[in-house]
Amino acid sequence: MVYAICATVPPSFAQFAGHQGFSYAPRGAISPFRHFMQADGAAMSETKHTKVLIIGSGPAGYTAGVYASRAMLEPVLVQGIEPGGQLTTTTEVENYPGFTEVQGPDLMIKMQEHAQAMGCEIIGDIITELNTDVRPFVAKGDSGTTYTADAVILATGARAKWLGLESEEKFKGFGVSACATCDGFFYRGQEIVVIGGGNTAVEEALFLTNFASKVTLIHRRDELRAEKILQDRLMKNDKIETLWFHTLEEVVGTEAPLGVTGVKVKNVKNGEVSEIPCAGVFVAIGHAPASELVKDSLETHNGGYVQVEPGTSKTSIPGIFAAGDLTDHVYRQAVTSAGMGCMAALDAERFLAENE
Ligand SMILES: Cc1cc2nc3c(=O)[nH]c(=O)nc-3n(C[C@H](O)[C@H](O)[C@H](O)COP(=O)(O)OP(=O)(O)OC[C@H]3O[C@@H](n4cnc5c(N)ncnc54)[C@H](O)[C@@H]3O)c2cc1C
Repeated sequence: MVYAICATVPPSFAQFAGHQGFSYAPRGAISPFRHFMQADGAAMSETKHTKVLIIGSGPAGYTAGVYASRAMLEPVLVQGIEPGGQLTTTTEVENYPGFTEVQGPDLMIKMQEHAQAMGCEIIGDIITELNTDVRPFVAKGDSGTTYTADAVILATGARAKWLGLESEEKFKGFGVSACATCDGFFYRGQEIVVIGGGNTAVEEALFLTNFASKVTLIHRRDELRAEKILQDRLMKNDKIETLWFHTLEEVVGTEAPLGVTGVKVKNVKNGEVSEIPCAGVFVAIGHAPASELVKDSLETHNGGYVQVEPGTSKTSIPGIFAAGDLTDHVYRQAVTSAGMGCMAALDAERFLAENE
């Protein structure tokens, strides 16, 4: 079966693409995704065969690139719409081993350079279709290139869901976050708000009480969707206050340095807007795995995360491996993704050796 995906091109991608050595030329309404061109301006339309095709350029993809290269598999890695993955959207990272503190985009450039130095070929393209019914597997690139591969490593990650407010975008990485495990530590002794009412929101709020002096959970209804046991823990926690029937209207803060000082919230019953002072805003309205390419061909779990055989990266189709946030709705960390990228490359190596 062949499955196609659609995507939009964020402005940051155009900037990043410039750093990657290929040009970026969106062509408007007819085909917004056919934008990858060679440096000389010629559109690419070749067929490229590789033993291992890695789809995705986050920690999982680049780590798979390092290991597959060192196994002499000459992998090809397709970067996708967000070269470097989610960490390029954040600032300080303090929990990646070997780096006491590193900027997310810098860490990802180092990972890219590492994979390249080991021999991984890195291509600026987006895979729009993946045919898992034929061998070798066939992937179509937005550039027009067709990739054929004896094994495929899927490392397309996941996305935090955002509210879509302009002010949320402005302060992302500067007081607005979607990951308490990643950023909670930066708010020691400060007041924080969490937006949402499901398991993610309650778990994040509880976790954040380890650091914050006060956590306000803001929810648009007067009951939570979270599991009862989590709700009980939330209600018993003295540091957490719940604000029912309210939605986030705007994040407010300072310009130089950029930082959050509070949120404007709206009472959905009477329309009144009030302001709550806080240093951090955690948007916790869920995550969505980027599994569009394979959501109908591979087994998935928990709303679209690719299912792997426990303790491996093997998916329901032999020769297709998956790693990182795409498979994982629990840990969602750079280091766990990198670990799974390593597993996927080793699993692919064994698969290829057994099927030669
Ligand atoms: C704001 C923020 C801050 C964070 N801070 C931390 C932190 O401090 N520490 C930490 O450990 N974790 C942090 N995380 C989580 C961490 O970024 C993720 O767990 C990690 O990046 C997941 O890695 P991944 O390789 O699975 O996927 P991702 O990083 O999500 O990368 C997915 C890749 O797949 C590519 N892709 C998607 N679709 C296609 C396609 N069709 N064709 C080709 N390529 C495709 C994308 O372009 C991207 O390169 C943070 C996340 C966010 C959003």
